[in-house]
Amino acid sequence: MNFTDQLFAQTVVPVLVPLPSARPYSYAVPDGMAVEPGSIVQVPLGPRQVAGVVWDGETDGVDPKKLRAITHCFDCPPLGEDMRRFVDWVSDYTLAPPGLVVRMALRAPAAFDPEPWIEGIEPTGKLPDRMTDARRRVMEIAAEAGAWSRSGLAHAAGVTPSVIEGLMKQEAFRSVRLPPAPAVAAPDTGYGRANLSEAQQAAAEALVETVRQPGFSATLLEGVTGSGKTEVYFEAIAAALDAGRQVLILLPEIALTQAFIDRFHARFGAPPAEWHSDVSPRQREKIWRQVAEGRVRIVAGARSALFLPFKELGLVVVDEEHDPAYKQEERTFYHARDMAVVRASIGGFPAILASATPSIETRVNASQGRYRHVTLSARFGEADLPSLSLVDMRRAPPARGRFVSPTLHTEIAATIARGEQALLFLNRRGYAPLTLCRVCGHRFQCPDCSTWLVDHRLRGRLQCHHCGFEVPRPEACPECGTLDHLVACGPGVERIAEEMLTDFPEARTILLSSDLAGGARRLRRELEAIADGEADIIIGTQLVAKGHHFPLMSLVGAIDADLGLSNGDPRAAERTFQLLHQVTGRAGRSGLKSRGLIQTWQPEHPVMQALASGDASAFYEREIDERLRAGLPPFGRLAAIIVSANSRREAEAHARALRAAAPETDEIETLGPAEAPLAVLRGRHRFRLLVQATRRAPVQAYLRAVIAAAPPPRGSVQVQIDVDPQSFL
Ligand code: ADP
Ligand code: ZN
Repeated sequence: MNFTDQLFAQTVVPVLVPLPSARPYSYAVPDGMAVEPGSIVQVPLGPRQVAGVVWDGETDGVDPKKLRAITHCFDCPPLGEDMRRFVDWVSDYTLAPPGLVVRMALRAPAAFDPEPWIEGIEPTGKLPDRMTDARRRVMEIAAEAGAWSRSGLAHAAGVTPSVIEGLMKQEAFRSVRLPPAPAVAAPDTGYGRANLSEAQQAAAEALVETVRQPGFSATLLEGVTGSGKTEVYFEAIAAALDAGRQVLILLPEIALTQAFIDRFHARFGAPPAEWHSDVSPRQREKIWRQVAEGRVRIVAGARSALFLPFKELGLVVVDEEHDPAYKQEERTFYHARDMAVVRASIGGFPAILASATPSIETRVNASQGRYRHVTLSARFGEADLPSLSLVDMRRAPPARGRFVSPTLHTEIAATIARGEQALLFLNRRGYAPLTLCRVCGHRFQCPDCSTWLVDHRLRGRLQCHHCGFEVPRPEACPECGTLDHLVACGPGVERIAEEMLTDFPEARTILLSSDLAGGARRLRRELEAIADGEADIIIGTQLVAKGHHFPLMSLVGAIDADLGLSNGDPRAAERTFQLLHQVTGRAGRSGLKSRGLIQTWQPEHPVMQALASGDASAFYEREIDERLRAGLPPFGRLAAIIVSANSRREAEAHARALRAAAPETDEIETLGPAEAPLAVLRGRHRFRLLVQATRRAPVQAYLRAVIAAAPPPRGSVQVQIDVDPQSFL
């Protein structure tokens, strides 16, 4: 602290900095600087300067003379009261330090300073000495609006910039300052209102009602695939926009397709502001700033959009609310759907959760009256749901080394003969999940994880799907040196594509997988090509399960329906049901008679029975019953403690120490430690403890007490807390 700091230091405020500290730090406010809770400021921290947020609360009588001072207060709207309470709430609930939560709200540092105004020109009223055709065009066009950017005016008038220069010299135009361009055009709520069916109209009115009522509400919008949920919640969005509120639509990242943006555009005459990993940093900064200023009225984004600093948020929609992608499992562990409801309850506005296959949690909330329930039970228009049947792989298996059963093969042939499309779904990237040497039995394993390397033949690499490690696909076995005796075990999408190319060489086959060259742009092109009927057979991972509308698709085949059933996850059955229902729901969306064929080795499994019979409610009732009996969510609560270290011994020792510090109470019990199913990840050995509690038990307080009572982690040991875990790997 230097002399000038001391001279100006007068009052003291808490400042939350984006670091894993447990509470805000105290800083002095220099004389002449005005800050309030929520102000975004720059403060010294050790040798660095960091951006932080002035927080609420006491600083318990610290002497300002002993403190360092805030360096700078940004010219930026302060983080609102609701947002600060939200950060506190998320931190409290997830046990993530508040600094790491606030960091998610400060993702666009360059946006703390106002956007620069741009240079523009406007007519002075003076005519140039000499009028040419080009000049006349410019003068005519310019008269239609007050101020223009030079290039905008040149473009609109169809002249070169030198024509504008000439007019400037003649003093027909003068320079003016223009506010920064909006990130997106304003939505027009009256623009492309759809003609809703009677059922859709009733559902839309119920949702609009929740927007008109003051205060918080949560509503489950449940409707079969293709029933028009999107059209229906668009009406609630229009009502919120008309009421002068901002709106947030959350989508699983993968569903943020051009198709969704186009539909939004058609309804509101402008696209929403998009917020996800593909948006350029420059555009992200613009959006962040304009969301804070209230200039952006609607954002469609992935889970991190929840932490945007909305000025007057008044509605949040969570589409595909059951999607596991809403759970973040790195750094801060949080579930964006649950936190969206919290955000709405703190802000006192409605949340809408939409799905064809709601999560058990949401379904129970709806059936117990905590959430409202609005349903759409039929597809829109002529379209019927596909008829689903099981293919018993024990009775009619495919030939050796093949994965498409004769039954499915016949259906594919018939479908493409009619000029329609078939989709084959397999939730596994690459060619084969395991490669081994036929001579010595060597299996290719990741050096840093306890997983097999996946053969990506199109790229000629073997790759770990957990850490990204990859090596060129070798020709000889590294263990015994034998050449050309490596065999691929099991299927990935590349292998199914190969099978289709062999069986249907005339057909136009497209393989959709997120890892193929060309990235998002190529994917977008291919999705458009499919929608335009330029493909016959489409093979894809769960990428194809969501959001797309393929008019010619009349057959969906699930290659390995059992894939997710046996991973020891309490939600395995629910997840499998949701995914298969969603994927088969891609078929028959425009009125074609359509089928879904589900290849399974366990046709008697309740999930397969539910799919085949179309009786989802019986399946859900059973699942809910089982959860109730086992005290699993939402009837009980879970939290995971994950301990990792460079050596197995260290990880296990610390996990045992935590267990020893965990008392068993009437309401809470700690199980484990057990070696994690993914025992080694990125070279770190992992152990898990599972805390199981009753619904009302104080789980967070218990976890804090356990962590405090155990010895602090030493050496390479790290402890992660996952409240409401979705993954048990
Ligand atoms: P969901 O989200 O329930 O699967 P969508 O909202 O995607 O259903 O609607 C399915 C298809 O039906 C879309 O192509 C959509 O444009 C169309 N659709 C739904 N409702 C209407 C309507 N009222 N008027 C015109 N098209 C509609
Ligand atoms: Zn790995």
